[in-house]
Amino acid sequence: MKTRYGKFTWPEIRKLDKDRVVILPVGAMEDHGKHLPLDTDNFIITRVAEAVAEKIPGEVLLLPTIPFGFNEHHKDFPGVIFIQPETLMHFVLDVTRSLAHHGFRRILLLNGHGSNHPVLDLAARKTVIETEAVCVSASYWNLIGETLAGHRRSRIGGIAHAGEMETSIYLYFDPDHVVMEEAEADISHDPSSRYFSLDLMGGAKAMCMSWWSAQTKTGTMGDPTAADARQGRIFFEAAVTEIIGLVREIRRLPIHPRRDHH
Ligand SMILES: [Zn+2]
Repeated sequence: MKTRYGKFTWPEIRKLDKDRVVILPVGAMEDHGKHLPLDTDNFIITRVAEAVAEKIPGEVLLLPTIPFGFNEHHKDFPGVIFIQPETLMHFVLDVTRSLAHHGFRRILLLNGHGSNHPVLDLAARKTVIETEAVCVSASYWNLIGETLAGHRRSRIGGIAHAGEMETSIYLYFDPDHVVMEEAEADISHDPSSRYFSLDLMGGAKAMCMSWWSAQTKTGTMGDPTAADARQGRIFFEAAVTEIIGLVREIRRLPIHPRRDHH
């Protein structure tokens, strides 16, 4: 059964079940420490989305990954392609408007890069206002907090950016592109803070995103030395399982008509 959006003909799209959940992965092209490639967010979110599509092919349609994100605060590191948040939101919204125009009613914006999260949340909300579709945004790490808590080796602060989680998942799929000799822990997390945390296990009550180069020496925020492929498999499989659960809930979400009470 086909799941890749671009592999259908237009007559096939016309006949297709419009309650399939259309997944739009969104990543970034940016520094990931001295040890991981620039494409880390794209690589991981694409692998996750492909695995979901392989496991539940009749329930999803998979769009190509948008490979650039909102990350101007990273631009002191060579290689970063930074897209303005307004541009990203409008681009994503044009994709979701197109899908709604063709009759699709259930869309998942699947995020692989931290600072895309508020942008995709806005794009999802605007899609709901402007179209007949339900649109959900989700960042994969937010779905696997229990697995991170149960299996992590690094302390809080060790899983933020190019740390234990991302390095482990990259090692699981493509160790040839991970330069483990260059991996070093770079943890700027303040354990005494009651309000601020960039650890992906969650818990942040307030957010302040400063220039990346002001917070880390290497571009890493976390502990990649705690990473290995076995950990990567655990984190990856948890993400796939949770996204399948999310897709199934999106398929069941009721679409009620508006009522204008003027
Ligand atoms: Zn990343």
